[in-house]
Amino acid sequence: MRAYVGIGANLGDREATMREALARLGEVEGVRVVAVSSFRETDPVGLLDQPRFLNAAAELETALSPRALLDALLAVERSLGRTRDGSRYGPRTIDLDLLLYGEEIVAEPGLTVPHPRLHERAFALEPLHELDPELALPGRGPLETLLRNLESP
Ligand code: ADP
Ligand code: MG
Repeated sequence: MRAYVGIGANLGDREATMREALARLGEVEGVRVVAVSSFRETDPVGLLDQPRFLNAAAELETALSPRALLDALLAVERSLGRTRDGSRYGPRTIDLDLLLYGEEIVAEPGLTVPHPRLHERAFALEPLHELDPELALPGRGPLETLLRNLESP
């Protein structure tokens, strides 16, 4: 299955941590990193008083189920020292989100795919668009349309 993961960081050496996260993800049995977008600096959303983020997206080929893939993402976050005691939108050494899993829609406790806030986050949609401009979010429509609507609401 083709899956897309969002990667973000706003503490420490952001780029190094993000590259290490990708390397560790690529070592997971049943996961191959096929492509990585450029890394872009973005302003924080939600909680504004914190350092700027670096954001990217990666395309994976995976044999894992959505749940197993999410568990792998959370394990890589933990291995890189992410703790979850702060605010949801607060600073983080690394954030790995399962953005898309093929064209599947998943709505389970603790796992929503497409990622529940993807459609409203330019910092996640733009790197996806860079990886594949033809992508669409199941239930929400083409990336192109979503991005255009964010630019001129
Ligand atoms: P965010 O990524 O929205 O900034 P957090 O990373 O702090 O927020 O929260 C992630 C939590 O949301 C995880 O513990 C996970 O169980 C849940 N979650 C639900 N769907 C997803 C998804 N598609 N990708 C990543 N986490 C998800
Ligand atoms: Mg997350």
